[in-house]
Amino acid sequence: MVDPVVVRAAPSPTGDPHVGTAYVCLFNYALRTKRGGRFILRIDDTDRTRYNADSERKIIEELAWLGLTFDEGPETAGADGPYRQSERTAIYREAVQTLIDSGAAYRCDCTKERLDEVRAAQRARKEQPRYDGHCRERSVAPDAPHVVRLKVPRDGETSFLDGLRGTITIANSTVDDQVLLKTDQHPTYHLATVVDDHAMGVTHILRAEEWINSMPKHVLLYKAFGWDIPQHFHLPLLRNPDRSKISKRKNPTSITWYRENGFLPEALLNFLALMGFSLGDDQEEFTLDEFVAAFEPDAIKTSAPVFDLTKLEWLNGVYIRKTPAPVLAAKLVAISPMAAAADRTLLEAIVPLIAERMKRLTEFEDLCDFFFVDKIEPRYDDLIPKKRTETNTAAVLRAARDVVANSETLTPETLEASLRALGEEVSWKPRELFMSVRFAISGKKVTPPIIESMCLLGKAECIERLDDAIDVLGDPENPILAAPSS
Ligand code: GLU
Ligand code: ZN
Repeated sequence: MVDPVVVRAAPSPTGDPHVGTAYVCLFNYALRTKRGGRFILRIDDTDRTRYNADSERKIIEELAWLGLTFDEGPETAGADGPYRQSERTAIYREAVQTLIDSGAAYRCDCTKERLDEVRAAQRARKEQPRYDGHCRERSVAPDAPHVVRLKVPRDGETSFLDGLRGTITIANSTVDDQVLLKTDQHPTYHLATVVDDHAMGVTHILRAEEWINSMPKHVLLYKAFGWDIPQHFHLPLLRNPDRSKISKRKNPTSITWYRENGFLPEALLNFLALMGFSLGDDQEEFTLDEFVAAFEPDAIKTSAPVFDLTKLEWLNGVYIRKTPAPVLAAKLVAISPMAAAADRTLLEAIVPLIAERMKRLTEFEDLCDFFFVDKIEPRYDDLIPKKRTETNTAAVLRAARDVVANSETLTPETLEASLRALGEEVSWKPRELFMSVRFAISGKKVTPPIIESMCLLGKAECIERLDDAIDVLGDPENPILAAPSS
């Protein structure tokens, strides 16, 4: 029996829900689902200047869309709340007071001007800019404006264990006397994180690699408080194809974008899991359950994963093809106004025809709009195969129209057989015939299989569209006729 875990995600509500948040949540979710325990959502809203009021709701909604759910959080009652750091200020102030009382932290009332001067002088000496310790031994009155800093030992070194990288040791002399409480008495990220992870009983911290630089500060804080340190695992950063840290300019980063652009949650989760984990044997497709069953935090890959949209699209296509038609129809309805307005039976009949051809659900409208319009306006040029004439094409389309009109009901087998027979009779290649008919029926070059599409459209509609196409060919006023292109 392994012990249950307590894990958390601590997204900052500063903007659109980020795929990096989904990635971190997925790995935490996997650990808690595998081992049992609790997964806490904590809102890291300590930075009030970057706070965005809608962001928290959007993060929760998009994570729910992905199926990543929490045991505790701002919307789920639990024993460890409140779950917004902005509602926990009293807890941080009390914690900081214990550090001041024990001599591990001190008040600092240095002005911005003084700190700027100190940094400028350090830079001029080619030193790393940092706080110079001016207030370490001074006594600053609690009622004067001040920050509180950690009194980092000047000597010795600090070691910490990263579950993926082993022990990392750094000299204390390189660690700044970090600010714990800001002038407005709000906590910094470092203080709030350590205090909350301890208060909430967090056992494992799985978070983005960019926070590894904060580890010495956090470890020194845990030591100053006399608290046990949770196990840490820093997930490899997602990267743009040029290997820079994933960014909006080079890759869509908002989960909302992926939802609205026709990606399936299963595909995005599978893809994000692949970024940091391997199921062996180059297995690229796996379900969330398979991932959870295989997951071990210390087997997380540390190589820099590239967020390759083309690969995600491929995987999305795989999942689209695996999804049963009624489910896929419901998903289309959720993102496409055209699908939402469509007759559900027709939509569910169309879905199997297009599932093979879509990498994103959003391709539906382009592929299928011709099912939902009253009139197609095929272009004269499109209707006539390269080596054929207007008169010849009009005659063939008229014959195709008669094939449709003479069929009792349209079924794919009989319609295809009779159109092929027609092709033979008039010495048209099937490719020519089907292309001309396709343009007449849909107005476009790429469609779902045209025979099946015609059967779904129904006899009367097909006759009307073929008649319209014949009219386009027979119209002497046709502008394209009047001005031949070459
Ligand atoms: N707000 C931080 C983030 O979104 C939390 C980092 C942490 O997990 O400690 O990356
Ligand atoms: Zn100072």
